[in-house]
Amino acid sequence: MRLFTLLLFLLAGFAGSAQDTAPARGRGCATDSYLEVLKQQDAGFEQRSRLATEAVQQALLQKPAGQYLRQATVSIPVVFHVVYNKAGENISDEQVLSQLAVLNEDFRRMNADTANTPAHFRPFAADTEIEFCLAIVDPQGNSSSGITRTRTTRESFSFVSDNIKSSASGGIDPWDNTLYLNIWIGNLANDELGYSSSPGAAASRDGVVLNYRAVGAAPANTSLWEYNLGRTATHEIGHWLGLKHIWGLGITCRDSDGIEDTPNQENETLGCPEGITSSCNNGPYGNMWQNFMDYTNDACMNLFTQGQAAYMQGVLRANRSSIFSSVACTGELRSRFETAEPVDTLIVEGEQVQFKGSFAGYKPDTWLWQFEGGTPATSTEQNPTVTYTRPGKYRVTLTTANASMSHTLEKEAFIHVTDNDLLVYPNPASGFIILEQPARQQVQQVQLTNHYGQVLLDQQMQERVLRLDVRDLPAGVYVLRISGSNGLRIRKVSVVK
Ligand SMILES: [Zn+2]
Repeated sequence: MRLFTLLLFLLAGFAGSAQDTAPARGRGCATDSYLEVLKQQDAGFEQRSRLATEAVQQALLQKPAGQYLRQATVSIPVVFHVVYNKAGENISDEQVLSQLAVLNEDFRRMNADTANTPAHFRPFAADTEIEFCLAIVDPQGNSSSGITRTRTTRESFSFVSDNIKSSASGGIDPWDNTLYLNIWIGNLANDELGYSSSPGAAASRDGVVLNYRAVGAAPANTSLWEYNLGRTATHEIGHWLGLKHIWGLGITCRDSDGIEDTPNQENETLGCPEGITSSCNNGPYGNMWQNFMDYTNDACMNLFTQGQAAYMQGVLRANRSSIFSSVACTGELRSRFETAEPVDTLIVEGEQVQFKGSFAGYKPDTWLWQFEGGTPATSTEQNPTVTYTRPGKYRVTLTTANASMSHTLEKEAFIHVTDNDLLVYPNPASGFIILEQPARQQVQQVQLTNHYGQVLLDQQMQERVLRLDVRDLPAGVYVLRISGSNGLRIRKVSVVK
């Protein structure tokens, strides 16, 4: 062991660089400190964070350990943002890709070192059913390698200012966090290995940050230290999916990571212990220092538990479900559209609607709209304006295309055009009288009186359409007094038997 350390120093010396020596204090994950910073800087973070995980936690507590539901495998699109000042920080594609491979092995329990999980912990070890894919499309719809490279004048980045996540502060802005997991890679101050946001963080802060020297696995990772097997990213993405350190927050046996099947453990484990180490009366098997959420060396950690897997899956489904519909890795083109204002789908005859076309995946070159009942009936603009002159419910269709693909989105009865006057029907009526007001006009009160002026029915009109029950009224002629933002209106209606 001592010889090995000496060798490291010699190698570092020959390389003429101090960067290959490990930090003296062991693994430096800044996530706990970073989350404290977020609480200071973002007043709503703590509550959002609690809401994001509370229900997941509760649901898991209902289930005995070992009986968690297996979930369908999900694949999370990833973009790596390499931010470099010195050439050595501009790590190779090969090194980044070796990181992706490690993530897929570790999260699917296909890592070569599963054999190092002690027999007594193997029943708890999990295939999390979570995978990672490299984005092939950027948020603007252009082809991408899934790796961005940004040269910066900044020599190092800090979790306190989180400056790597913003172009304005020498880093690079995130890609849409509802569709991508952003992983920034740079030179971190104080030899921090990495840090991650937790569920509930603001979009601009969401993602994982890695020390460039801890990315990927040897031989692509050439740093001669204990963190050159890519486990820092495995650990940090565990945080991104809500996991806490396996010992909890403080150095005590009273707090926990909230996961049923990880042993209670007092504190972090540094280096690489041999055999069983115990704390918090967690015998006979002791601390699970082989867990990815402990602080051991990359070569000594090799499992997530079933409980951790179920928790991460739960957090994904509860908070990051939009990522399931991301086409960032599949390279499709999908048409999307809405109206400029959501209320514009319900209009009065003669009104105009402003449509907004958009897309997911690859960027289209052409837009082709069809507007049933509208004028114009077709358009090739991205955001056309259409007039509807007749009451009815109308279909809208958008086909977008580029040189190699196209996609059609059709929404039935998307635009509802109402009469421009209040409708009262049928007349005569025998069971119900229906009052249908124009879009967005406010009738507040409806009274039905007989020819003596006696009020027989008196109803507030909460919805656009009201059904007045006249089944108990004798046949005859009645008066409807309708009052609202248009003043008072009188309609005669007949009830027949
Ligand atoms: Zn950590």
